[in-house]
Amino acid sequence: PETKLPKVGTTIFTVMSQLAIEHGAVNLGQGFPDFDVPTRLVEALARAMQEGKNQYSPMTGIPALRQAIAAKTERCYGYMPDADSEVTVVSGASEAIFDAVHAVVRPGDEVIVLDPCYDCYEPAIELAGGVAVHVPLDPRSFAPDWQLVRNAVTAKTRMLMINSPHNPSGAMLDADDIRALTELLRGTDIILLSDEVYEHIVFDGAIHESVLRYPELRERAFVVSSFGKTYHCTGWKIGYCIGRPALSVELRKVHQYNTFCSFTPAQWAFAEMIEAQPEHYEQLGAFYQEKRDRFREQLLTTKLKPLPVPGGYFQLVDYSAVSDLDDAAFCRWLTVEKGVVAIPLSPFYGAPPPGQRLARLCFAKNEATLDAAIERLQKL
Ligand code: PMP
Ligand code: GLN
Repeated sequence: PETKLPKVGTTIFTVMSQLAIEHGAVNLGQGFPDFDVPTRLVEALARAMQEGKNQYSPMTGIPALRQAIAAKTERCYGYMPDADSEVTVVSGASEAIFDAVHAVVRPGDEVIVLDPCYDCYEPAIELAGGVAVHVPLDPRSFAPDWQLVRNAVTAKTRMLMINSPHNPSGAMLDADDIRALTELLRGTDIILLSDEVYEHIVFDGAIHESVLRYPELRERAFVVSSFGKTYHCTGWKIGYCIGRPALSVELRKVHQYNTFCSFTPAQWAFAEMIEAQPEHYEQLGAFYQEKRDRFREQLLTTKLKPLPVPGGYFQLVDYSAVSDLDDAAFCRWLTVEKGVVAIPLSPFYGAPPPGQRLARLCFAKNEATLDAAIERLQKL
């Protein structure tokens, strides 16, 4: 029988984490921190549960959290979304993406994605009856070629998805990209979905060019973020979507019948944490920059060649000096034979570029974990 998602198997993250366990490998594959969440946040979560905040929250999220998100957005990007009509709390960025796509993509609509892109985008588009149109990023810098994007626009283009800082490469959109993007969208009714889950993990004094900074762009955008990345708690699955009222109304139609609401105690905990310790997200870039710098220096003692990492918590490495295997085979070999898990890039593409020899390593790890991985990688 015909299945709805014939191209889809088990995600590469699950496959590689399973392989890590089977082979006792150091897991730098799936992106999650192996260190603790902030103490204040855990205490706030426990307190919320003890205080009986355990039932359904309002469908759009508790007001205190939506207000905290709005105020934080103003502090970061100089724009205060309306907490009631423009901020929706959902179960992770994954739900935000799914809801946004299902809210606006109709059968036959085209959605432009920039390859490599996060692997949940295309299945969401396909389940909505849409068609993902893949436009490649530069194979080395992972910068968009806006002329290529423009060439991909048709009368059926309903949405364009962007992601900065970018998974898997860490590349970031700059002010020139924003200008080109604005010009490209002007005069069209294309909706922008901006995946900004790594918004606070930016390095070397760079500025995160949130779409929320730009009135013309945010008029037509769903902007998605996730507390999983910002607060080291990927398993809590709380995220949010900011969008103008007309778009948020549509998003909420999907959200209310998808999950209705998200884990209530965590919403109380984040509301408290955002207000009480803004320094946590303000210092996140510096926190991860130290890890990035140390890890990159260590990689120079191996045969893997690190690519630049402007943001996010992934390091791409060129492994062509070690092996001529394709990336899926290389990552499997690295895990099984060498005891280090990496993620191949090919699952992030509609059609992977032939001959690409890149793998992704996650450095959101304790020094001991990274040291153990490096010790093994030095033996390649
Ligand atoms: N978008 C990107 C680019 C991601 O890397 C991730 C998760 N790592 C998500 C979305 C999904 O985030 P969440 O876990 O909050 O659903
Ligand atoms: N986003 C994480 C990554 O890129 C994985 C999330 C997941 O496993 N679904 O590694």
